[in-house]
Amino acid sequence: MNKLSITQAEELSYKLRNMAGFSDKEPINMKTFIMKLGILLLYKPMGSNSCGMSLMSADRQYKFILINSKNSKGRQHFTIGHELYHLYYDEKPEPHVCKLYEQNKNISEYNADIFSSALLMPQKSIIENIPDTEIIKKDISMATLLKLQHLFSVSFQALVIRLKHLKMITENQLQQFLGLPITDIAKEYGYNTSLYKRGNENLMIGNFGEKAKILFDKEKISEGHYTELLNMINNE
Ligand SMILES: [Zn+2]
Repeated sequence: MNKLSITQAEELSYKLRNMAGFSDKEPINMKTFIMKLGILLLYKPMGSNSCGMSLMSADRQYKFILINSKNSKGRQHFTIGHELYHLYYDEKPEPHVCKLYEQNKNISEYNADIFSSALLMPQKSIIENIPDTEIIKKDISMATLLKLQHLFSVSFQALVIRLKHLKMITENQLQQFLGLPITDIAKEYGYNTSLYKRGNENLMIGNFGEKAKILFDKEKISEGHYTELLNMINNE
């Protein structure tokens, strides 16, 4: 498996967008996106360093994503995109818990992040939403950054890293942006702060039927429940 380039990630993300009936540039509502793809998505509290995990049946027919409801909603959206890479494009998907801020990520984790970034924040749409003068000066204003962040429903961190990958901000600017108290700034600009907060606990999206729901309701899903879930999906 090779590292994806930014362009390859963009191309793969268009394919998945089209598969779910979305255009190449519109902002994605992840819950609708997941429903269109027929995936079962469950939000549960997980360990503080965990983001989520994904599984599928051997015939790839049934797909399942678990998201840590303790992470901010912005982060949750990014993790869903990350898991979609494992489910659709990972050459050798292996059940694993995807972690926050992992040092020395392996290629599959790196690719999943690059893919999610492109899926949630299409380059065309980013460019369209930055005023010409800011593009020419290579100086994107805070008002524009917050507009982009809320347009794509991502964390501020995910947004500025994407802008750096697209060479629209410098490494220095990236470091400056990452150090900002962004929740306070967003409030000053009048934005709703729900993206920065946890949420969706115990929410289930998808229609694998009552059987799955009963199982999830009875059992508190922990990170050690892969096998059980996989068996459930295989026996559907
Ligand atoms: Zn992963």
